[in-house]
Amino acid sequence: MPKFLCKCDEVINLSVIPSPNEWRIMSDTKLDTFSDQVDVEEIYLATDSMLRCPKCDRLWVFWDGAEVATEYVRPPSGS
Ligand SMILES: [Zn+2]
Repeated sequence: MPKFLCKCDEVINLSVIPSPNEWRIMSDTKLDTFSDQVDVEEIYLATDSMLRCPKCDRLWVFWDGAEVATEYVRPPSGS
């Protein structure tokens, strides 16, 4: 996935590795199972990919390696 089209029409470039627009997330409980683990690759593979649009701040999360991302929209400021 070299790039991702956000709903705001921003093209999120993912060709740069590591990408400043991609975040790796996992639950606190899952992270706890990696105590004393220093194998970054193994931890990386256990995470889910989250993209953050640099233009509109939408978050796109590929939960559990899903092919389609779930969209999270930032509420208007001041709310
Ligand atoms: Zn966007």
